Amino acid sequence: MSEPIVLRGGTVLTMNDAHEVLHDADVLVVDGKIEKVGPNLDAPEHATTIDASNGIVMPGMIDTHRHMWQTAMRGYGADWTLSQYFVFFYLEHGKIFRPQDIHAGNTLSAIESLDAGVTTTVDWSHGLQTVDHADAAVDALQSIPGRFVLAYGNLQQGPWEWATSKDFQSFVQRRFNTNDDMLGFQMAFDVTGDPAFPEQEAFKVARELNAPVTTHAGVWGATNDDGIRLMHEHGFMTPQNIYVHACTLTEDSYNRIAATGGSVSVSTESEQSAGQGYPPTWTLRKHNIPVSLSMDTSVWWSGDLFSAMRATLGADRSREHLEAHVKGDTVTNHHLRAEQVVDWATRGGAKALHRDDTLGSLEPGKKADVVLIKNDDSPVMFPILHPYGHVAFQAQRSDVHTVIVDGKIVKTEGKLVGIDLDKARHAIEQTVEFAMGELGKEAWTGGMHPEIPETELADNPYQYTEWGKR
Ligand SMILES: [Zn+2]
Repeated sequence: MSEPIVLRGGTVLTMNDAHEVLHDADVLVVDGKIEKVGPNLDAPEHATTIDASNGIVMPGMIDTHRHMWQTAMRGYGADWTLSQYFVFFYLEHGKIFRPQDIHAGNTLSAIESLDAGVTTTVDWSHGLQTVDHADAAVDALQSIPGRFVLAYGNLQQGPWEWATSKDFQSFVQRRFNTNDDMLGFQMAFDVTGDPAFPEQEAFKVARELNAPVTTHAGVWGATNDDGIRLMHEHGFMTPQNIYVHACTLTEDSYNRIAATGGSVSVSTESEQSAGQGYPPTWTLRKHNIPVSLSMDTSVWWSGDLFSAMRATLGADRSREHLEAHVKGDTVTNHHLRAEQVVDWATRGGAKALHRDDTLGSLEPGKKADVVLIKNDDSPVMFPILHPYGHVAFQAQRSDVHTVIVDGKIVKTEGKLVGIDLDKARHAIEQTVEFAMGELGKEAWTGGMHPEIPETELADNPYQYTEWGKR
């Protein structure tokens, strides 16, 4: 059992049902669980004490959709659209990634999560073209002391192929036949809307395994209402389902999702940049559909939920203003509050994963996944007047002072504990070198720098006139 820990004198966002915020309060962790939250707590003598004054203590954040293997290509696709992403990974180069490349990407992404205070990450792992790749993915996740969920996928085959294979089923038996609290399991595949609904074979396997299904739904040009309707008509829409993006669906699909209890994983930065559709929280709110947040892929963005919260508030409010302006109206009060996005980044994720009984809030009895945001060297850490606003709009990764997962300190004083970053770096270098070699210099460079369409300049009736020459 881990040693007791007490965080003293912080602003505590409990994220309990009442969203209680406690000032100058302590959080006591014993045996990997939250023992108590409140002012001036008695702690065991041998407890590790962490000074949380001038800081914000909150539950560990939860990312419900990230293609962790792609972190090996960090930043490569910064200028991509979704079409370019599809061409690169689905059509041209997804196959080149070997098990050790999946391992390298997953390891780095897992480390990155902990560093940013993301204590649970769903690995939407659709690069598992063989069981060796899948073993590599799990090995990597288990080598890093965070909480993870392997969402098994394989973009090289139809889900009706890989999900029904003996290889897949024996892999699940071998690696997931435990009640490991640190590593969950889901199945990850998309439903194209083909009227024959071939994906139903994979849904049947998921039902047998009692595995939640996570699916990119409502993605412009890829998945639409037909997929949702087919899932619903065949009885495969359950409260366990996570619908990723859900941007381009009609009212009918949102109603089906709401009525069957599933949730949506919103990746605002991704949706804004890649083109899945407008980030949907502004419409999900109207349907009372539960929301969690995600970062999607580090091919464009970093795995950091501060930017997810910020982008989501911005996109939701931006849409609300725009819709009002079209009607000649002015929005005087925002619907979406900073408090809500902090909830989505923590409790929302726990609910989406059906782990709300043990994760997502700082309440006695829950697992001790705790984040302290504190940076005494930063001019941005005071004053803390609106703690939710501070988390959503002011704080960033470098302000993550302490991260506790399952009662163990994995980051403190702003530094990761017991993580071999050099080893991770070396593995990534090998993957990058290999990928460059496979693609060849021209394709590698071209892939990173897609053509820019010509900008059509607007006609301007005015002429520039130099001052004094009038
Ligand atoms: Zn995705």
